[in-house]
Amino acid sequence: MKAVRFFGQNDVRIVNDVERPVPKGDEVLLKIAGAGVCHSDLHVIDDGIIPAGPFTLGHENAGYIEEMGPEVKGFNKGDAVLVYGPWGCGHCKPCQESFENYCDHQAEQAFGGGLGFDGGMAEYMLVPSSRLLVPIHDLDPVMAAPLTDAALTPYAAIKRSLDKLTADEFVVVIGVGGLGHMALQILSAMTGAAIIACDISQEKLDFAKELGAAYVVNSGDKDAAAQITRITGVKKARVVLDFVGATPTIELGAEVVALNGDLTVVGLGGGNFPFTFGKVPLGSNLSIPYWGARTELMEVIGLARQGKIHVTVEQFPLDQALEVYDKMRKGALKGRAVLVP
Ligand code: NAD
Ligand code: ZN
Ligand code: ZN
Repeated sequence: MKAVRFFGQNDVRIVNDVERPVPKGDEVLLKIAGAGVCHSDLHVIDDGIIPAGPFTLGHENAGYIEEMGPEVKGFNKGDAVLVYGPWGCGHCKPCQESFENYCDHQAEQAFGGGLGFDGGMAEYMLVPSSRLLVPIHDLDPVMAAPLTDAALTPYAAIKRSLDKLTADEFVVVIGVGGLGHMALQILSAMTGAAIIACDISQEKLDFAKELGAAYVVNSGDKDAAAQITRITGVKKARVVLDFVGATPTIELGAEVVALNGDLTVVGLGGGNFPFTFGKVPLGSNLSIPYWGARTELMEVIGLARQGKIHVTVEQFPLDQALEVYDKMRKGALKGRAVLVP
């Protein structure tokens, strides 16, 4: 079968002769309907954040059950499912509580399919356990694939700050890409806070307004922090969600976050920041959350099925994976690109 394979830093190839796996035990083989293209793949390909492959890329996956190992119960061939992405040991306390993103054994194993193990940028994908599948019922799997990360990650980040996001507060969202465009909708659906969206592209700022941002600020402007604090007044933003994570965006977040607020850095931009007295408002929390829980993915699917969130998807064939990564490097994608085998 065809697959988009990572061989090592700066080495991704489309390969035509990958063997189609056969599921045993509790494993499930999916016929992939769509695999979302996440900016984290660029950190893997360009920055080498995961040691050499080879493995198949694609960690935002949706498909139909093709074949099941003999121990799988509760699913049928043809069921449409999402693949929960951060694969933990399945047994430790965080995993039992469905927070496999914070598995006790994370340091000892690959992160998941497409992030060390074979992922979904292929015709078929082997999922190591049926516990990692979540049914999507009437949702279109191509449109739903990005829910597994582009929506789940901001959803989990927002839930951490939910009690602070009341209607009298401001929340700043930095970066209106795949994750950011979902964050805006999740904030609108779940909170009353006034949203200030930041990006460096005017097109993304216009897009943000369509998705619920009350205000937009170009974070490339030298006076971006002053523009934001003119909107918030002296209280500043109770929560900042940074979907870039570069030094300038973390610095911007620290300048505009309120006393006792949350500065949540989701982007893996490799930024450095001195977390010390005088640099961040007193009482503020700086956190770097990772992905979300299995049950949170169920909640995200609920938001999508109710029509409260919707992924803007650009579809491409598997063969165009390298071109799509190039578009992403240039910031030329709107919403999320999904590869369709
Ligand atoms: P994306 O490429 O779809 O979007 C990035 C957006 O940020 C674009 O709109 C771009 O114009 C904008 N941008 C770039 N530089 C900017 C700046 N200086 N100021 C403001 N906006 C800027 O990326 P994505 O797939 O949404 O991923 C975003 C980040 O989140 C990546 O670093 C990715 O690796 C990371 N990520 C983290 C987790 C996690 O669990 N922590 C999960 C998924 C993705
Ligand atoms: Zn991702
Ligand atoms: Zn575990």
